[in-house]
Amino acid sequence: MKCPICGKPAVPDYLPFCSRRCADVDLFRWLTESYAIPVKPDETDEDEPERSDLRSDPRPDPRPDPKDA
Ligand SMILES: [Zn+2]
Repeated sequence: MKCPICGKPAVPDYLPFCSRRCADVDLFRWLTESYAIPVKPDETDEDEPERSDLRSDPRPDPRPDPKDA
């Protein structure tokens, strides 16, 4: 059996893959696909225009400097 990711011979520990890396790659692809559900452009119930004058400052809190401790 060949690894579906890279085509190398699979190893029993990671069947049907050849390595942990390829198994992870496949898992990641699977997760990505399952999460990549396209959002319907029709569902725009919230009529929310983007206003840049709204005071929304998404700046994270400054982390305490570890040197101060
Ligand atoms: Zn592989």
